[in-house]
Amino acid sequence: MVELAASCDAKGLKAEAERTRAWIRPRDPNRLYITDLPEKIGPAKPPADATADAVAWHEHFGRLRREQSDALFALARGAVRSGRPSLAFELALAAIGEDPDNEAVRHLLGYQKFRDGWHTAYEVRKLRSGQVWSDRFGWVRKSDLARYEKGERPNNNRWITAEEDARLHRDIESGWDIETEHYTVRTNHGIEAGVALGVKLEQLYRVWKQLFVRYYATEEQVVALFDARGRGRNIELPRHQVVYFRDREDYNRSLASLGPTVGISAGAYVDQTRRAYFFADKDQDERTLLHEATHQLFHESRAVARNVGMEGNFWIVEGIAEYMESLLREDGFLVLGGLDDARANGARVRLLRDSFHVPLDELTRYSLKQLQSDPRIGTLYSEMAGLTHFLVHYDEGRYRDALVAYLTAVYNGDQDPNLLSRLTGAAYAELDKQYREFMEKNGK
Ligand SMILES: [Zn+2]
Repeated sequence: MVELAASCDAKGLKAEAERTRAWIRPRDPNRLYITDLPEKIGPAKPPADATADAVAWHEHFGRLRREQSDALFALARGAVRSGRPSLAFELALAAIGEDPDNEAVRHLLGYQKFRDGWHTAYEVRKLRSGQVWSDRFGWVRKSDLARYEKGERPNNNRWITAEEDARLHRDIESGWDIETEHYTVRTNHGIEAGVALGVKLEQLYRVWKQLFVRYYATEEQVVALFDARGRGRNIELPRHQVVYFRDREDYNRSLASLGPTVGISAGAYVDQTRRAYFFADKDQDERTLLHEATHQLFHESRAVARNVGMEGNFWIVEGIAEYMESLLREDGFLVLGGLDDARANGARVRLLRDSFHVPLDELTRYSLKQLQSDPRIGTLYSEMAGLTHFLVHYDEGRYRDALVAYLTAVYNGDQDPNLLSRLTGAAYAELDKQYREFMEKNGK
């Protein structure tokens, strides 16, 4: 790439030189980048009036990326054979970032070629049945889309106005059910708002599914995902239910049985009903959405114990939900982490300025009750977020597999306070020290 950029300079291909250099610019090691994959198959063509040199650059740039992509995927296969599933997934994601048309990685991620695009099996079923995806209305019959756009809505084999439709769905009991690939959103706020919420949830789902593959899949299943023969690629996961109220009053009223904290919450996941609840608000709290939806994913993607964190290890249940709040979409990536994230930065301030630190040896012993009744709860939540960032990112992800194994055991009901130390192979005093180093070294 460096040589290609230099040859662009020599030929006066300024824009091409810049694009080549931008491609290899180093990224923040304290963030995870997951490429937003295009639907269209094949690279963009050079413009019709491109010079011969520019066309040659285009070809060369694509070839280097395809080669890099194949090399990264070969490395990913090696990582999975060495029992490093998180590293294997990171390498596979880097491979698809280099070449979005890498077929082996596309198949691993659940995509297939259909018509002119890359689609999941779910999308193929939808498209085959004559539906199309609309960013405004979700999945609708292709022949209905024009009427939707004109403000008409289907109702019992006839068409009614959007206003009448809204009246019919005014109560949550008779709300709309918006279906996306992995979620059903029940809402009385509006079709478009429900679709927008579903799209955000699907983004979280995508990164969660890749980061925590060993949480919901066995080691054999992960190995099978990377198997060139493509067996065992379908790991069936359940559909999640979300309720989205038109306003806070509706939310408060419907969830009143959960107790007085409902009135100050901006969203909730309730494991008894297996539903996450949110409401429309002019300053929508995106972080609460990601936080509660993360609780839902860990609770529902496989069977979990009834006593998660009851006697100990509860901190990580909250820590990981706080970490997932950092999800952003930027420059063609879904991005997680970063020490400038509000939670991670809060943790830095508490640790480095206020010298607040509950050692891991103590924190891991906290039960759910103990943590939630602690007067320092806000400060503790800061530290828990910071520690989770540390476990994901420290030393290029050294503890990431251990973190996933920790979450798996905790959701299996393991209350042993020494669990994390055992899984990381490090004494708590050592982890506390590394955490401080991590916070001191990184970020502004
Ligand atoms: Zn929480």
